[in-house]
Amino acid sequence: MSDKEKMKNEKKPLNRQNSSWYNMSFLDYGEKDSSISVEDLLYDIFKHNDADHLVVGDFLSALWSTGLRNTDPRLSELMQNLQKIQQDLGRDGPGNLENLKLNRDQFKASINENIVLVSRAFRRQFVIPEFEEFTDKIEKFYYTCKEIDTGKVAAYIPQLERMSPNYWGVSLCTIDGQRFSIGDVKIPFTIQSCSKPLTYAIALNELGSEVVHRYVGQEPSGRMFNELILDHNKRPHNPLVNAGALLTSSFMLTLIRREMALSDKFEFVKSFLKRMSGGEFVGFNNAVFLSERENADRNYALAFYMRENKCFPEKINLRECLDFYFQCCSMEVDCESMSVIAATLANGGICPTTGDQVLKPDSVRDVLSLMHSCGMYDYSGQFAFTVGLPAKSGVCGGLLVVIPNVLGIALWSPPLDQSGNSVRGIEFCKELVSMFNFHRYDNLKHAVNKQDPRRHKYETKGLNIVSLLFSAAAGDVTAMRRYKLSGVDMTQSDYDNRTALHLAAAEGHVDCVDFLLKYCGVPPNPVDRWGQTPKDEALRFNHSAVAELIQSYMDKKPIAEEPVEDPKAKSKDQGSIGSIF
Ligand code: GLN
Repeated sequence: MSDKEKMKNEKKPLNRQNSSWYNMSFLDYGEKDSSISVEDLLYDIFKHNDADHLVVGDFLSALWSTGLRNTDPRLSELMQNLQKIQQDLGRDGPGNLENLKLNRDQFKASINENIVLVSRAFRRQFVIPEFEEFTDKIEKFYYTCKEIDTGKVAAYIPQLERMSPNYWGVSLCTIDGQRFSIGDVKIPFTIQSCSKPLTYAIALNELGSEVVHRYVGQEPSGRMFNELILDHNKRPHNPLVNAGALLTSSFMLTLIRREMALSDKFEFVKSFLKRMSGGEFVGFNNAVFLSERENADRNYALAFYMRENKCFPEKINLRECLDFYFQCCSMEVDCESMSVIAATLANGGICPTTGDQVLKPDSVRDVLSLMHSCGMYDYSGQFAFTVGLPAKSGVCGGLLVVIPNVLGIALWSPPLDQSGNSVRGIEFCKELVSMFNFHRYDNLKHAVNKQDPRRHKYETKGLNIVSLLFSAAAGDVTAMRRYKLSGVDMTQSDYDNRTALHLAAAEGHVDCVDFLLKYCGVPPNPVDRWGQTPKDEALRFNHSAVAELIQSYMDKKPIAEEPVEDPKAKSKDQGSIGSIF
């Protein structure tokens, strides 16, 4: 089976076009009102037309299509509640969660604890609202790069030399925890030089930038990563070349957590990585560690040269310092966990899937600045020019890419180019920024040649009224529920002062009229440009049931003079769950 088929099979089937919640434009409004709970709306959206139950699989596959996963810690209560209901059904139950049927109360109770995240997902409030559309393109880049067969796998230690050149994995995680993975994303690999920005981040977090940069510079070296060279102040050029990373290791042995034993210090760093990855896979490869130590002449030479030039903050045991550096390089991740680490960097140091503040935002800013200028060995300048994103590569073929405030990407493919960067990884980055305006200096306002998958492009009201009126005229009450769920103002009118209620009434859609009056609390008698109310429209087209329904609401409610003009004032006397919106 091809990768593509495999991934497709793993995905929950969701026919995007037919999925009714998908077809609305989810726009975001500051002022929200509601007289029906989000839980109820979701139930109505996903419930089976004539039955009073909802099939869990339908609801979940729509939820996963927003980029969330069933392993997301933020959804653990939902998943546990569903499993519990299923278990309670015992032997006679549906067999798997997908087929489980829930009534309204069961559904509401199941999603209650995670309703804020779930409602954000369905209201397209994540940073990449059209997530599947976006990941379709990522998938395309993946296959384009898979074809590449140039580059050489690192051969300085046998464990790396034995790696298959065919491994190729891509994972991404957004700052809202939307996930996508394709290819060899579960195979562990050693992080190697991708550990450098991470240990640098820990040092900044523990010591502050001022202390750290007393000992190490911020300039690209313009040389190979392990070159025997210091800057004109006799300091390592930056923390992302070997000399700088050896210095960071020396901090770990001296200035940082002095009281800790070496073994605890190793665990301290590893637990930082684990927290950055939201608790996902972080391991250690002892064979790689031993091999690194066996083949360490250059790193030893560097360390002695640095000691000669008094680079280290204090007298240190060089062997311990080098061991610590090799241990950091020999930690393992997979694309999936590395993408969450990258997303934590994209998110100012807060892990998107757990909300854990692992690093201070200022530490992360410093790390990203240097990744931008120094992360790609002596290709860093060209990478900053063509791709324009902070990134760090490792000799194992890993490439950690950060799109600040948007998402983190982990790429892994062992064959390297002459600078030591993953060939497929670099090509993927080029593809990415040629389609999307992610280059740091892409203009988001005026440039027209690239796509912007980010949320802000949805933050205009324009399209909304058209879609709302269209669904009212078409009698699509399901779509109207989605609009309501999205926080759309259901009282709004078009250029001719026609409201959704006018159109639903004129077309005789009694269920839409009922929904608007009953659940949305829209005023029953707004007047359009020609002086017509919805009831007038209903009578004109002989929809007497609709006219009667509207009349019953007119009898109930005091008639406002210009209700359509003043939706904000109206929202005050409406429902109580507005806070979620
Ligand atoms: N362990 C390797 C070294 O220090 C890491 C280098 C790298 O990934 N570029 O030589």
